[in-house]
Amino acid sequence: MAVKCGGDKLPAILISGGAHSTEHAGALATVEVIERLQTKHVVWVVPARDPIGLSGYRHALSLGLGKSPELESVDGLDDFLRRHGEVLIDADGTLLVMIGEYGYANRGLLHKIEKGAAVLDPLRGRRIWYASQRNDTPGSAPLERAYTLIVTPDGEILHLNRFHDTRWAPAEVRCLRNLMSEVRPGLTFDLHEHDHGPFFWMSARKQRTEDDEIWERRMVTEAVRAVAAGGSELAPDSYSPGSFFERLERGVFWLDAGKRGEGLNLVDFAAKQYGPGFTIETGMQCPFEERVRQHLLVVQTAVSVFEQRYA
Ligand SMILES: [Zn+2]
Repeated sequence: MAVKCGGDKLPAILISGGAHSTEHAGALATVEVIERLQTKHVVWVVPARDPIGLSGYRHALSLGLGKSPELESVDGLDDFLRRHGEVLIDADGTLLVMIGEYGYANRGLLHKIEKGAAVLDPLRGRRIWYASQRNDTPGSAPLERAYTLIVTPDGEILHLNRFHDTRWAPAEVRCLRNLMSEVRPGLTFDLHEHDHGPFFWMSARKQRTEDDEIWERRMVTEAVRAVAAGGSELAPDSYSPGSFFERLERGVFWLDAGKRGEGLNLVDFAAKQYGPGFTIETGMQCPFEERVRQHLLVVQTAVSVFEQRYA
């Protein structure tokens, strides 16, 4: 589902959330944007990049079972999966079973199973769901959301914020790619959350042209300063989200997809093909309402700078 809003000026702005369904403040913020964002530009909002995951683990289970599961809490999950599925992995606390044509796990498997491992052969080109792991985050309780993993045709476990530049891609990503080729966004946002603390950070991308890069820097700098001025905590100086990030200023990192591998995510792809874009990462240990507010503030601040560019 995509919602067209904003004004009628081009280039268009694309705002996406919920690529990881457990990051619910970002998904909610994209819905708020529909009524609250002030801009003359056309805006396309995609609030739920993972509709199945957003519908929860019981819904995901129903797709494999062919009926609603009799499962009221995450406590009985391991027994339930063993009873209803064909067990592929059951070792060291990790359980992965196949029910129908889908995989179901009791925990996250990203970077945990080697690419091409024979145990994943029956799931190549298919999905694995696991239940949300947090008890203390509104909108992301266990069973309330399911995190979607994708097993690539060559047996690598990835997730729905990949596959933007690959020949093979799951349907959810293909829909977004089609929308992008139609609307050609001049500015793209992807709203996420991280699990490393209560603090805020966001990532920018190196751009194809000098002009795009000047505006990329201007937008990200003003946006992160607005978040700090609003009293929110930025990522501490000692924090690094990963080896493929390079710090630009406090709370802002360049993301180098070439160093990361795994293909391009939404904003990597936007930078390669269309222009400026940002991934926003609010801290899941920060109150829910504040995280929604941070997302809205970044989007509105960057959009105001974007308007100056096309004034
Ligand atoms: Zn995310």
